[in-house]
Amino acid sequence: QLNFSLVFESAQERGNLMRLAPNIVKPLPFIMPVYEDSPHPLWKICAGMWLYDILGAFHNYKNHKKVSKAMLLQEESALKQERLKGAVLYYDAATDDSRLTLETVLDGVRAGGNAMSRAEVLSARYEKGRLKTLVIRDNMDDSTHEVSTSCVVVASGPWTEQVLARLDALPMGPKLRPTKGAHIVFDRSTLPLAHAVVMSSPIDKRVTFAIPWQGATLIGTTDTDFAGSPDEVFTDKQDVDYLVTTAKHYFPKAELTPDRIKGTWAGLRPLLSAEGLSPSEISREHKVTMDTRGIVAIAGGKLTTYRVMALDAMKKVLQVLGSKKDVGKKAVFRKPLFYGEKLSEPGAIEEVENELSREHGLEKPFAHRLCCAFGSLAKQVVAEAKAKDRSLLTPIIEGLPILRLEAFWAARHEMARTVVDFLCRRTPLFYLDCRKSVEVAKEVARIMGDCLGWGASEIEKQADMVAMLAQRHMAFSR
Ligand SMILES: Cc1cc2nc3c(=O)[nH]c(=O)nc-3n(C[C@H](O)[C@H](O)[C@H](O)COP(=O)(O)OP(=O)(O)OC[C@H]3O[C@@H](n4cnc5c(N)ncnc54)[C@H](O)[C@@H]3O)c2cc1C
Repeated sequence: QLNFSLVFESAQERGNLMRLAPNIVKPLPFIMPVYEDSPHPLWKICAGMWLYDILGAFHNYKNHKKVSKAMLLQEESALKQERLKGAVLYYDAATDDSRLTLETVLDGVRAGGNAMSRAEVLSARYEKGRLKTLVIRDNMDDSTHEVSTSCVVVASGPWTEQVLARLDALPMGPKLRPTKGAHIVFDRSTLPLAHAVVMSSPIDKRVTFAIPWQGATLIGTTDTDFAGSPDEVFTDKQDVDYLVTTAKHYFPKAELTPDRIKGTWAGLRPLLSAEGLSPSEISREHKVTMDTRGIVAIAGGKLTTYRVMALDAMKKVLQVLGSKKDVGKKAVFRKPLFYGEKLSEPGAIEEVENELSREHGLEKPFAHRLCCAFGSLAKQVVAEAKAKDRSLLTPIIEGLPILRLEAFWAARHEMARTVVDFLCRRTPLFYLDCRKSVEVAKEVARIMGDCLGWGASEIEKQADMVAMLAQRHMAFSR
């Protein structure tokens, strides 16, 4: 799909985010292996990569290069060798989407905003043709609250149409065509990778990836139309078959069997509706629309370009409010995210990691994880947890570098209100090991409950919620 302006904008934003949030947006090397029967020959892929480098003008981490078969097999020994011609190495970036979103929210709070986790918009009231009040519900205690406002931005991804209906919005332009993307996770020992590997599925020639992710290996994603409720999106047997078949084609000797899957997740891409195109052909562009009574809706788009989308939405907000103010793009766009402050200099992250190891005796994987999750705040996180209880410096799941202190910090400072919040959206534990997450849920609930005032029955309830969610995530195996 050749959408030059989107590729250019994404490359620019990817570069900016690597600078402004270096703890969680990091360069990732990708290998695209080429076989005799690949859809495109090596020379053609190299030509495409030149274009990718040019469009990424000065923003790509490094330019692409051709890799010989011998070199490739040295670095990715699990790859299928027969009819392999060589590969192209190029750079993209990877992030922790939950924590990037969280950091952005925390930044908003630091700038004077209010954020409420697990709250949902129920309805809106209008007066004299203008938005006056939003009614929201706190889903933790079912209490409802009223918020006075003259403008609301609907940024609810696949739920956009539902939320607009709740607000009684006037018809506002493009419809969504949500497509589902499923992922499966294996232990690194099942498929050890040094690079992300681009795979063209033997089933339908779609591009999928095998990615070194959080110390494990992630295979994804699918791209299929989805007509159900956005609340009920799980990886099913068909998704698993597709992903396993694709990965097995490229890594025939790896034991990529469904029973070895450690975790799964699926999400909906909130794409703009497009007639006659397959899901993978639909543009990833965004569109901002408005109901002049006080509603701005943002639809489509990519995580990579979220700041550009936010800026476009703010311009419309000012329009709705009749303000002539400037959105202040320059100041906003140069500001690092909170946890990324003081880390943009080369070597700054490694320095924090080394200090964590030196001062607290933490082994490298733990120091690295803390630095990724909390950036320049990592030392403060450890010090505060240590002062409370030294046992918080032990891992939650043996073999995974996530310490108990993260549960304490998430409950106290990161608006985690349930154990599911913590296991799925403050850490990747639930996806790295779904079954073990069920086993440790009660212990996590105890740590969080200490901060949130939970009694024994709430701790039980929290653990049950994790077990129920795990059943849905691993349902493909039944
Ligand atoms: C499989 C997959 C792979 C992707 N890969 C990439 C990629 O490689 N690069 C990239 O840049 N982008 C990628 N994306 C796209 C990116 O993840 C999405 O564009 C992004 O998550 C959309 O963010 P959003 O905030 O609009 O929606 P979401 O992240 O879906 O958030 C919507 C929020 O609205 C909330 N909500 C729903 N109803 C209400 C209500 N009534 N009141 C209040 N809140 C409500 C929901 O709880 C949710 O938190 C991918 C998406 C998927 C699904």
